[in-house]
Amino acid sequence: MPSTDNVMDKLVSLAKRRGFVFQSSEIYGGLGSVWDYGPLGVELKKNIKERWWRSMVHAREDIEGLDAAILMHPRVWEASGHVAGFTDPLVDCKHCKNRFRADDPRIKGTPGQPDAQCPVCGSRGTLTAPRMFNLMFKTFMGPVEEAAAVVYLRPETAQGIYVNYLNVLQSSRQKIPFGIAQIGKAFRNEITPGNFTFRTREFEQMEMQFFVKPGTDQEWFEFWRHERMKWLVELGIRPEKLRFHQHTKEELAHYAKDAYDIQYEFPFGWQEFEGIHNRTDFDLSRHQEYSGKKLDYLDPATNERFVPYVVETSAGADRTALVTLVDAYGEEEVAGEKRVVMRLHPALAPLKAAVFPLVNKDGMPELARRVYDDLRRHYNVFYDDGGSIGRRYRRQDEAGTPFGITIDGQSTADATVTVRDRDTLQQVRIHTDRVVSYLGERVKG
Ligand code: ATP
Repeated sequence: MPSTDNVMDKLVSLAKRRGFVFQSSEIYGGLGSVWDYGPLGVELKKNIKERWWRSMVHAREDIEGLDAAILMHPRVWEASGHVAGFTDPLVDCKHCKNRFRADDPRIKGTPGQPDAQCPVCGSRGTLTAPRMFNLMFKTFMGPVEEAAAVVYLRPETAQGIYVNYLNVLQSSRQKIPFGIAQIGKAFRNEITPGNFTFRTREFEQMEMQFFVKPGTDQEWFEFWRHERMKWLVELGIRPEKLRFHQHTKEELAHYAKDAYDIQYEFPFGWQEFEGIHNRTDFDLSRHQEYSGKKLDYLDPATNERFVPYVVETSAGADRTALVTLVDAYGEEEVAGEKRVVMRLHPALAPLKAAVFPLVNKDGMPELARRVYDDLRRHYNVFYDDGGSIGRRYRRQDEAGTPFGITIDGQSTADATVTVRDRDTLQQVRIHTDRVVSYLGERVKG
């Protein structure tokens, strides 16, 4: 394995070179901590989201899907606590103009006092006292930019689920326990973004809120915590790089009864990329209070009324994509040559196969085109006839393509092709009629 310090640099450069991730607005110098997904990246992220949706919504009878708008009534964010509480304390250096979180471990001394030293320029006594900074992006609805017209870009998708809880319950005829799942964009004006796509200002969440009877919440919490870990392991992520972190009393949100982060060991340390939270009846009770609409549930079996508890699984699609990229990255020597290989799970790989005519003559390109045309009706595949076959294999290794299909001299005689496995480098020869089903067995989710 390459040394951990420069893995991120190598990954960022590979991501750009191969079209996984580009910096936003790069030709204008880029926009801080906003990233765009290129042709390979968009496929990877889409595969992750589709797999999540399938496992949450399609594979289960007790979860419904939702796609709520990004803009919501501003009262939603008062009820949720975001207007008052979604803040980070910040300090500025009056000398170098840099801005830090007040709890930045590099700050020596107390910000606002003469002993505090700026971690960037080293000046003493130049740090301001902490000021609270709300992480929500604000904009204005309608033509007049006035306080009454302020709306927010949602900082999480969860609230769209809570405010639609009754609509979904009634229209789907679900009964508690049941869940609502949603994938969508969220925005946070992060102060200390960075580490590539790990912490960005615009990102996508995959959230599922599971509504349960109070008293059964801890059981469901345990259930979902294990389900989510299982899902990640099935995604091909190395289990030794995954762990749970249970929130301590200090870390726990004031409304949460219990919470676990799922962390991955990134080159920059163990970091959260998904959370499972027992949010109690906080959210529905608050929306009930702020909207004046009853959000309690009448249990048809027992005739009891209660406000459901919520167990939430909240994952970042971008952070999960980053986990799969970091986890897949490998460098090795093959026959005296270095190769970089992205060992992405075949179900996540942007391209499922690449088709190569060994040389551009003797009927090979025609047969290769036929195989390619057959395949692309079913899968995202790539045709490459440029350069030596070794180079073409290496390009696909970097893209994470699990199979390389080569049409050689024998192919035109007996209609067989070789299939090279990205990970084992083993080659098997199969009939062209079997290529679609061979791939199907190996790349299905
Ligand atoms: P952190 O402590 O890293 O800021 P958080 O605890 O605020 O994260 P949650 O509010 O629980 O995160 O959000 C759930 C998930 O959404 C996170 O696990 C992460 O995958 C994703 N997420 C949150 N903030 C960002 C961000 N700025 N950039 C990318 N993904 C994010």
